[in-house]
Amino acid sequence: MKTFYIETFGCQMNAHDSEKVVGTLLTRGYEQVETPEDAELVLYNTCSIRDKAEQKVFNRLQNFKRHAGKGKVFGVLGCVAQQEGEKIFDRAPHVSLVVGSASYNQLPQLLVQIENGDKRVTGLSLDTEDTFETPMTSRDNPHRAFLTIIEGCNKACSYCVVPFTRGPERSRTAASVIAEAKQLVAAGYLEIMLLGQNVNSYRDPSPDGLNFAQLLEKLGEVQGLRRVRFTTSHPRDFTKEIIDAIDANPVLCNHIHLPVQSGSTEVLTKMQRMYTRDQYLRRIEWMKNAKRKMSITSDIIVGFPGETEQDLEQTLSLQDEVQFDSVFTFKYSKRPNTPALALEDHMSEDEKTRRLTMVMEKQRTIQLRINAEYLGTVEEVLVEGFNKATGQWISRTTQHKTLNFNHTVPDANLAGTFMNVMVTRAGPHSLVGESVV
Ligand code: SF4
Repeated sequence: MKTFYIETFGCQMNAHDSEKVVGTLLTRGYEQVETPEDAELVLYNTCSIRDKAEQKVFNRLQNFKRHAGKGKVFGVLGCVAQQEGEKIFDRAPHVSLVVGSASYNQLPQLLVQIENGDKRVTGLSLDTEDTFETPMTSRDNPHRAFLTIIEGCNKACSYCVVPFTRGPERSRTAASVIAEAKQLVAAGYLEIMLLGQNVNSYRDPSPDGLNFAQLLEKLGEVQGLRRVRFTTSHPRDFTKEIIDAIDANPVLCNHIHLPVQSGSTEVLTKMQRMYTRDQYLRRIEWMKNAKRKMSITSDIIVGFPGETEQDLEQTLSLQDEVQFDSVFTFKYSKRPNTPALALEDHMSEDEKTRRLTMVMEKQRTIQLRINAEYLGTVEEVLVEGFNKATGQWISRTTQHKTLNFNHTVPDANLAGTFMNVMVTRAGPHSLVGESVV
């Protein structure tokens, strides 16, 4: 039996792609091992959204270079593979396999070529019509399953490489999404996370032509499915209908991740995000007026070329106005082929760090205040596992908040069950509580 090791960088789309790769390899009789040293096939599923992530992969390849040719085969998958293509063979000549994110369905044939001794094999097509039928997926989490509904992106945000690495949008049919959701429920999954670079622009390619809100409604009716989440959304395509669908069905979790990136309309224009601060705030108003309390999370980039102190102030004031439950913060990173490279006034790393710290400090204070509102409430949670170090169970609320709790019954196995938990402590990043039995 051949052995393989895979390390994944980047977003949930990549994590799910790795599940597909693992499934494919297991089906072909490979065995997964824990370290690259033990593996005959070493794979890196890469992310190119920031320069740092890309660098990491080449460092990893460099570290293991000495093992090349001693029965070890190296492969680079994902966004860096798509972006750099055959240039990877120049940068790391010991790599044998380069496969982009839209070509995983070619993996079985490519593996045959590798097994037959081919030294350089690539799968870099972006024309793939359908990359969604994934019967060989090997899912990591036994309770929550990722389910891709749309691949690629038709937006052209000026800082982003995704349109180059994942290609144009391709939606999967609603019938196949629902069929897979039913299979997942039959296999014991309780929660589904719908994935796409921009799930809001989902459009069923069959004659039914369901939009994203209508797909959510259908999924909310799948018998036995307890929770449905989705990521990621784009403010331009986010509709009130989505909030109405969530309001109508508690299976649809009351958490929205809506990346804003900046609070300044001037910066948003340079980012080619296609919405203004006011349009973003309109969507937030829909969420605040929902029947169930929505948790709202976001992404913010600081240090975009030309971002002034006033622009930064606008971002800080947007944080005050929205009161996000949590925010992923990033420093702008130059990416190849992107229009933002040509903009003027790129700033120093130190200046970006100063700005990042300001946004993060404000966000920490907001999160402490918001989480304190949960003290004394009883939340329904899905238990994900047990933390031996703290002796507490790890769980999530429908609003996607981490709630670690004590449970008095020893030796109980709660993983994969729903529990009611009283919140007794609140920190900026998580809640702590006691089970209510
Ligand atoms: S919406 Fe913008 S940031 Fe998101 S994947 Fe598409 S181009 Fe990139």
